[in-house]
Amino acid sequence: MRRLLRSISFAALACMPLAAGLNAAAEAGDCRPDAIERLRASAPEGFAIYQAIKDKTFFLGWISCGEAQLGLPTAVHESVHYITAELDTFPLVQGGQLKRPHEVSAFFAPQLIAGKFKANDFVTTYLRPGSASSSTDFLYLLDELNAYTHDLNTAVNLSHPRAPIEAGDEVDHRDGLAALMAFVALYAERAEQSEPATWSGLLEPRVAKTVSELWGRAEKVMASSCGIPNFGTEDKSLIRQFCQSRPQAALQKILGRAPVCPTACLKSTPVAALEGQPLVDPTPTGSLRRNPATNPARPF
Ligand SMILES: [Zn+2]
Repeated sequence: MRRLLRSISFAALACMPLAAGLNAAAEAGDCRPDAIERLRASAPEGFAIYQAIKDKTFFLGWISCGEAQLGLPTAVHESVHYITAELDTFPLVQGGQLKRPHEVSAFFAPQLIAGKFKANDFVTTYLRPGSASSSTDFLYLLDELNAYTHDLNTAVNLSHPRAPIEAGDEVDHRDGLAALMAFVALYAERAEQSEPATWSGLLEPRVAKTVSELWGRAEKVMASSCGIPNFGTEDKSLIRQFCQSRPQAALQKILGRAPVCPTACLKSTPVAALEGQPLVDPTPTGSLRRNPATNPARPF
């Protein structure tokens, strides 16, 4: 399932300077050559997925010229699924790959944790029966965790250095990875509490290593996104859920280390905005701007 874009910035796209290597297709209104160049220049790990997929038409089919990021995070996400199915491996952010551990398909059905979450599109799609294989098969929950890690990583990379974010570019990039991290964490919690066969399976070295590698990358990418404001709408409640003590304790046993809660993503004022604010107002008004949200920016 894909995020819903809450606003589409046609104006921003129309004003976007085209790459120097503009070819006839781009001149004819096809943004795909420019999109691939932007991916190569700004999001090399997403570009690596474009390079890895044999069926370039599949990747290019997800590009959407009307979207602020041209649909590139979606194209990367869906292509990660494609590569995963074709090669029976998880391609990893920052390179490398892991064989899919098919033994996890015998674990309890992820739909049993659906009731732990308040209703949202991610729960409906990934945990309720009838939409996706992940509701009955933990292997596909891992598949989505990895796809959303690539998805958010691409979105973060495409946002720099234009950060914090351009007007009209408010999208839900962080929600998907927050949801999948919450699903995996609460799945581990339930396994430890009441599903002994799955719990011992999760602690098997090959499975534990796979979960650890995927979780570790998800954790880093999530943390890297925290400074970008307006990058999620449901992310905070989902992050709070997987940062609770019981899922964290279960994860710790699988990872062999304490998971790192992305606390910076929970702050009401984005980190990047705070870092960008001078503590002392450079204009001589005599006031400290302790809370930029209640103190409108001055035109200096
Ligand atoms: Zn997916």
